[in-house]
Amino acid sequence: MGFFTDTSVCIGCKACEVACKEWNAVPEDGLEFTGMSYDNTQGLGADTWRHVAFIEQSKPIGQNETGVEHGAAPDASGMRWLMASDVCKHCTHAACLDVCPTGSLFRTEFGTVVVQEDICNGCGYCVPACPYGVIDQRKGDGRAWKCTLCYDRIGVGQEPACAKACPTDSIQFGPLDELRERAALRVDQLHDLGVEDARLYGHDPDDGVGGDGAFFLLLDEPEVYGLPPDPVVTTRDLPSMWRHAGVAAAALLGGLAAVFTAHGREGGAR
Ligand code: SF4
Ligand code: SF4
Repeated sequence: MGFFTDTSVCIGCKACEVACKEWNAVPEDGLEFTGMSYDNTQGLGADTWRHVAFIEQSKPIGQNETGVEHGAAPDASGMRWLMASDVCKHCTHAACLDVCPTGSLFRTEFGTVVVQEDICNGCGYCVPACPYGVIDQRKGDGRAWKCTLCYDRIGVGQEPACAKACPTDSIQFGPLDELRERAALRVDQLHDLGVEDARLYGHDPDDGVGGDGAFFLLLDEPEVYGLPPDPVVTTRDLPSMWRHAGVAAAALLGGLAAVFTAHGREGGAR
């Protein structure tokens, strides 16, 4: 199960942010004037599990909705907003989970990645391990917090609070295969409407994290939204590193054994 976030229909209302905070009792994180358009939460963190980005571009959005008359852009340099609700990607190969020494982070029966706050010891290993910079330690608490994809809600057959609250269905919840099919059709529809930059992000099970459980339809390059263009699970090289360390340790022990043996022989000869 997962999320498909179609940013082409996001209106930036932030109902998802509010619903997430309310359902999960996530504390407020300070509403500040950031100078980043209407973005007052800046990014994902321990106290922001959904983050609606507002990206201002001097690029007309064009007509991207069937049956809606958008009118001509005043000039070729017309301005547009890209709005996108970001979240934990619930990676198929999740580095946060790989490095957690307590088992606080675990893979649920729905394929999602959840932190159990009563087991988290606040070591913070998961924070640098996440290739998306999602998971974070809460100030004054130290434990790691992030989106649970509303584990409690989906366990009783309800959709996550953000998807339920989204008035435009920008956030859709369901089985990943079904969502991927729907997303591919939506991209084709947008291309037919002349929105050539529409593309999917995180949908490919062959990417560096084995595909995201939360993937997106974007209207520009991932970097424009602050997303890494080619994320790779940061623990990918750990098995080969351990293998090399094992070989090095065996060689060292072999060398030491040879030295001791040689010394023993010399001692006996005297
Ligand atoms: S996005 Fe980061 S925190 Fe979320 S599952 Fe992937 S590695 Fe873990
Ligand atoms: S609730 Fe839906 S439309 Fe509103 S900001 Fe979130 S994703 Fe966008």
